[in-house]
Amino acid sequence: MINLISDTVTKPTAGMLLAMQRADVGDDVFGEDPCVNALEDKLAAMFGMEAAVFCPSGTMTNQIAIKVHTQPLDEVICDHYAHIYQYESAGYAFNSGVSMNLIQGTHGKITAEQIGAVIKPVHDWLPRTRLVVLENTCNKGGGNYYTLDEIRPIRSLCVERGLRLHLDGARLFNALAETGESPLDVGAQFDSISICLSKGLGAPVGSVLLGTKEDITLARRFRKVMGGGMRQAGYLAAAAIYALDHQIERLKVDNARARQLGALLAELDYVENVRPVKTNILIFDVKAPYTAASYLEKLAGKGILASPFGPQTVRFVTHLDVSEAMMDTVMKTLPTL
Ligand SMILES: *Cc1c(COP(=O)(O)O)cnc(C)c1O
Repeated sequence: MINLISDTVTKPTAGMLLAMQRADVGDDVFGEDPCVNALEDKLAAMFGMEAAVFCPSGTMTNQIAIKVHTQPLDEVICDHYAHIYQYESAGYAFNSGVSMNLIQGTHGKITAEQIGAVIKPVHDWLPRTRLVVLENTCNKGGGNYYTLDEIRPIRSLCVERGLRLHLDGARLFNALAETGESPLDVGAQFDSISICLSKGLGAPVGSVLLGTKEDITLARRFRKVMGGGMRQAGYLAAAAIYALDHQIERLKVDNARARQLGALLAELDYVENVRPVKTNILIFDVKAPYTAASYLEKLAGKGILASPFGPQTVRFVTHLDVSEAMMDTVMKTLPTL
């Protein structure tokens, strides 16, 4: 089977498995796992942030970030496609007691002007606007990404209005592969950044939250209370370090392959509305009589798996475990459906 369901389906490469096997580990709840400490230090240094904390998932790093930056009755501004709103089971309400102030952005991206227009004035009867969350790349927006020139005015506005700014950077390295921008410059724009190691980077488990020393100290308490304190997590951190050392450069390949598939789909009669392909996510609609479900079933019959993203909408994601030969098969198969 060729699995285009998500870039989370990848399995560790031989080199990664060897790195995991050789990992020097300890009990991370006591702060004594050398590999976890090395991973946290490495990512913090890469983005010029003071501190970092390794967590089991990107949902947890996002939830902890919201908890660190807000108090109950505050509100968070983000695009209506944001993962924190769409796919984290309303954890913002459950964990932090905050509400969402949603913006209808463009393919998942919002602007300083749009944010400025919805910041609430200070009144007893209004939620206090406290946090802005950007997502880069934006999953439901079809892998769309922000450039630094788009982020800087948002940062200025947040500083001016006393708002914190968090980046859900689950697939940040897919964006940086396109923009060529430096992690240090990106880090300088945010109060906190969440990075997934288990997406395009190809590690089996884990995400890291980056921030100030003070915020990450608090984040460690929240990680523990959420049940995210892990013991010999160094085996996972070793995989993540291997991914950062060996599997960043190749993200360009995933992005290029998604563009190649997008160009092909745009030519096919049964396809419409291919969203602009910016990184490794490809979202499109199938025309009736196809539904997403019937199309995916037919596709599976040809050995290709993908996911539904609406009644007529389908998502493909390219990743490390899609070989050149698999790409050829997909390119040959899609026009026959
Ligand atoms: C995958 C993802 C997350 C979190 O993922 P986990 O599956 O909890 O690790 C957060 N934000 C975005 C944009 C994602 O795509």
